[in-house]
Amino acid sequence: MVNAARVLGNLEELRTLTADEHGAQRVAWSPMWLKARAWFEEKLKALPVEHHYDAAGNHWVTLAGASERALVVGSHLDSVPNGGWLDGCLGVIAGLEVLTSFAEQYDGKPPVTVKLVDWADEEGARFGRSLFGSAAFAGKATIEADRVRTDREGVTLEAALAACGVDVERIGEAMVEQKNLAAYLELHIEQGPILERLGKPLGVVQGTKGVERWAVTFRGQEAHSGSTPMEVRRDALAAAAKLALAIRPIAMKHPQAVATMGSVKTFPGIVTAVVGRCETTLDMRDLDAAVLAEMLREAKAASERFAQEEGCTVEWAKIWSIEPIPFDTELIAHCEEAIVETVGIVEQLPSGPLHDAAEVARLGIPTVMMFVQSLNGLSHNAAEDTKREHLEQAVQAFGRLSEKTMRWIGQR
Ligand SMILES: [Zn+2]
Repeated sequence: MVNAARVLGNLEELRTLTADEHGAQRVAWSPMWLKARAWFEEKLKALPVEHHYDAAGNHWVTLAGASERALVVGSHLDSVPNGGWLDGCLGVIAGLEVLTSFAEQYDGKPPVTVKLVDWADEEGARFGRSLFGSAAFAGKATIEADRVRTDREGVTLEAALAACGVDVERIGEAMVEQKNLAAYLELHIEQGPILERLGKPLGVVQGTKGVERWAVTFRGQEAHSGSTPMEVRRDALAAAAKLALAIRPIAMKHPQAVATMGSVKTFPGIVTAVVGRCETTLDMRDLDAAVLAEMLREAKAASERFAQEEGCTVEWAKIWSIEPIPFDTELIAHCEEAIVETVGIVEQLPSGPLHDAAEVARLGIPTVMMFVQSLNGLSHNAAEDTKREHLEQAVQAFGRLSEKTMRWIGQR
């Protein structure tokens, strides 16, 4: 049995050690992050485990079992600057509790191997490269683009990694850790308002949403605001404004879809001129690739219609996109069961933010995540919190999910 009180004690201990009055300061590749990792290593001394850091700086802890096929639990100890006390470290510390309880229950040798991973630099807070360690593990490292990234002080990513004993040329070697992995489980705070609004402590994550991110530029004709009659204007902002409103019904046709026009720039951008050029950005997300493709098609068609109505042209340029990454249906069912057995009710929800679990799932390793309610939906700041009762329930449900998954691996 997992001991939820021990998890809470460890979380408090880590907070005391690595936070100041502005919040958690465990930014990856910083001395405070190394201090958190050294603290974590101390916790391993009482356990019958092996541990090592891979070529990308991910920390792997192994409780060897009768079978080499491995159940992996994990998350990340790094935080954003002025971050919360639960984001990432809840999953790592709950994972440690899973290893501890299995070691006790099976006298040091469970039927399958159980591993814990603390991914390196999930947040990308210092160099702008999120999911750094898990991407390298998944064979998705982008060394050429990342090597020259610099932080605010001008330190290169390459130098910061070297100071932590990681050689940027070799991070791809982290792929060897993929061997024998049979399932990956991650417990995380929701970081959004859905579970709290529904009054449910825990939810099972269906997958991470796909993202379509585009620059949409309307071009009309700059003209004097005093001398140009309304009926002959080619106002690029008017066309953009129509699109800004039209994306709402386009997204709201689908229960979990979102669409955001986050930036609008007008040129020449002065009070005495009709807008000749309007640059906007569009970010659309959904868990279903077909839904996402349909939203994109509809938004493009709408933009062309609005451009024509206003005597303008429109141009779409892709900024970035990623496909939806659904989690494993059998593990989703086990996760749902574990939650219902613990708290009686469950919710299925997608994750808007990406997580390390997405990189693991993309490899075809069966993956699922469990979310615990976040108070006021807040995260990435010092106000981030979750009720003690809900944290305890999360640890218990995650322990149950780990047991179910271990049996599931044994049967396959
Ligand atoms: Zn996180």
